[in-house]
Amino acid sequence: MRRYPVTLAELEAAMGESWLRRARSRTERFRQAGRYDEPSGIWSEIKGVYVALQDGKCAYCERKIGTDPAYAAESDLEHFRPKARVQEWDGAPGGAEAKGYYLLAYHPFNYAMACIRCNRGLKLDRFPVAGVRILDGEDPVALRSEAPLLLYPIGDVDDDPAELISFVGYAAVPAGDDVRARVTIAFFRLGAEAERDDDLVMERARVVRVLYMANLLLRAGTMVREFRDEIAFAQSPAAPHSRCAACYQQVCERDWVQAELLFGAAGDFLRSKGLL
Ligand SMILES: [Zn+2]
Repeated sequence: MRRYPVTLAELEAAMGESWLRRARSRTERFRQAGRYDEPSGIWSEIKGVYVALQDGKCAYCERKIGTDPAYAAESDLEHFRPKARVQEWDGAPGGAEAKGYYLLAYHPFNYAMACIRCNRGLKLDRFPVAGVRILDGEDPVALRSEAPLLLYPIGDVDDDPAELISFVGYAAVPAGDDVRARVTIAFFRLGAEAERDDDLVMERARVVRVLYMANLLLRAGTMVREFRDEIAFAQSPAAPHSRCAACYQQVCERDWVQAELLFGAAGDFLRSKGLL
């Protein structure tokens, strides 16, 4: 997971005044009704804003879906705080609610582009919080008082996920003892537990292996420019699993023995899946 820097003004400029006007009028209707209530939404019209901002990658697992509209069916523009109801998650505090965060249905900092696995398979209408829910809140920054347990990577309204979530080889791990990092990893199955039933770890294991080989050849002085470019791109915002790559590259530069061990573990994992 990585942060996608953007300001509210930049998001609104990309959405356009016509859409914003319609969105505001709908939000006013929800305010009167005291809940989210409309036959169909209009947020799909501005999905492209988030696809471009996120370089066509899922906000949570960093898998690359692509920016071409042909890939639209493979991702959703999802509501970070559910708009219409809240489902319970794994017995976490802040359980189910019959209505959702209705005033955030059209807030630019309540959207994220996510892959089908993360949104329809794992997130659904779940939103665990450690504090008291404030369903009539309308400012995502003020709503931090709910102590949400998931990290939001768009803009700077939340903590930087890169500071809280790190990687050991192909598996996401909390960078410290932050409960939000632990819950976000468990919720989206970003850690080693994804090995059981997910190809996400397979993609990351390949990132680790490619980076190791690029570093190895770079150390040998072979095609220096080519491999430098490869290593730089792997960590860039447009690359899939760029945080995994950045954490592994740090190991390559700091501790080559450890880098070799993680490379070996990635190979063992791929072999165990018949992919090497
Ligand atoms: Zn995803």
